[in-house]
Amino acid sequence: MSNCAIVGINWGDEGKGRMVDLVTEQYDVVVRYQGGNNAGHTVINEYGKFALHLLPSGIFRKDVVNVLGNGVVIDCEHLWKEIEDLQKAGIEITPENFKISDRATLVFPYHRDLDALEEARLKDRAYGSTKRGIAPVYSDKYQKKTIQAGELLYPEYLKGRLAGILEWKNLTIENVYHAKPYSLEDMFAWVMEYGSRLAPFICDAGAFLRQAEAQGKNILFEAQLGALRDLDFGIYPYTSSSNSIAAYAPVGAGIPGSRVDEVLGVVKAYSTCVGEGPFTCEWFGEEAEKLREAGGEYGAATGRPRRVGPLDLVATRYGVQLQGATNIALTKMDILSYLDKIPVCTHYDIDGTLTESFPFPALLDRAKPVYEYLPGWKCDISGVRKYEDLPQAARDYVEYVERAIGCRIGYVSVGAERDAIMTR
Ligand code: GDP
Repeated sequence: MSNCAIVGINWGDEGKGRMVDLVTEQYDVVVRYQGGNNAGHTVINEYGKFALHLLPSGIFRKDVVNVLGNGVVIDCEHLWKEIEDLQKAGIEITPENFKISDRATLVFPYHRDLDALEEARLKDRAYGSTKRGIAPVYSDKYQKKTIQAGELLYPEYLKGRLAGILEWKNLTIENVYHAKPYSLEDMFAWVMEYGSRLAPFICDAGAFLRQAEAQGKNILFEAQLGALRDLDFGIYPYTSSSNSIAAYAPVGAGIPGSRVDEVLGVVKAYSTCVGEGPFTCEWFGEEAEKLREAGGEYGAATGRPRRVGPLDLVATRYGVQLQGATNIALTKMDILSYLDKIPVCTHYDIDGTLTESFPFPALLDRAKPVYEYLPGWKCDISGVRKYEDLPQAARDYVEYVERAIGCRIGYVSVGAERDAIMTR
């Protein structure tokens, strides 16, 4: 038995979904351990193209059990729609292959609205939230004023708790944001409508995972967002509201006593970032437009154009360290094929001082990228399937990155399709 976490090393959207989809065949269970439907994994396979926001990416593999752990926040309406869409495409989703932790937290419509109200209040200082209610629901969780998925199995108990929560929440909604309060009847009806459809999937996921471990099953932990969005160690406050790093995987999955054996970190061959916050290597204008178009860099959850730029080795090295990565998948190498020479950021210049270390967030606005330029390969590599068949310049790029970030690059990906990848 072994377990592995697949995690993002940077700002998210590194291509974790395609890696999970690829390696799930070696695993019996895939668990999402944090986040909600605020980010999306794109998976392309024989069933079609799918943007998964909540369902674990192992859902397409027969015989893989998929779990939403206690660390996840669930919008029942959204999840139900995601399940229905996949079922329509012919994918079977049953209580046997999909389980929701009874300890997962439920997102309500008032969380979404509070997200939007707060972003509106902040105006040009907004965080660039996806407005899916994620920050409000996680803060309520720590205030012990949210509903856990397991409460859906005890509607009267849930209703009693929801009444108390709404009484408190409406104080903020009415008096801080001057918006309309939410009625208990409406919120209870909403959660029962969508939540009751999810009831068959709700179980003690921790007990299920412990049993799976005892039976020698292989478990894959699937992260959403990258290390730089981790609540504790990322570019705070432009982080997510949960811990995306691998160390949190056993906790958010439901087996806090277990260790992570392997950490597969996913790094994109260049940098992208969705939303606000410091992004040192950002390109603008035509340069950015070309890379964005080449890479199809538009958010899977929102369709927003992503910010793009060259590979940031300072941030990537930090991400590798935060994740404790034992292996790296370098994705989207094919996208760089159009460049004559490829910049990589080796240092930050902060007020005239060069640093290789990722600084405290307060200093990031002053950091300027220092680039080194590597030769491009200027040919289509999307059909290459063996590492040795890559042009020398492409192999040099991979090996340069490997040395700079201090971790083995075990996979090089050159396309979105399942087989468009090389192992080293
Ligand atoms: P995730 O959230 O980390 O899974 O990343 P996203 O799914 O948002 O973004 C990755 C995107 O790149 C998806 O559209 C993938 O299908 C696509 N992709 C992944 N690896 C490659 C690759 O090597 N080459 C190309 N061209 N596309 C890739």
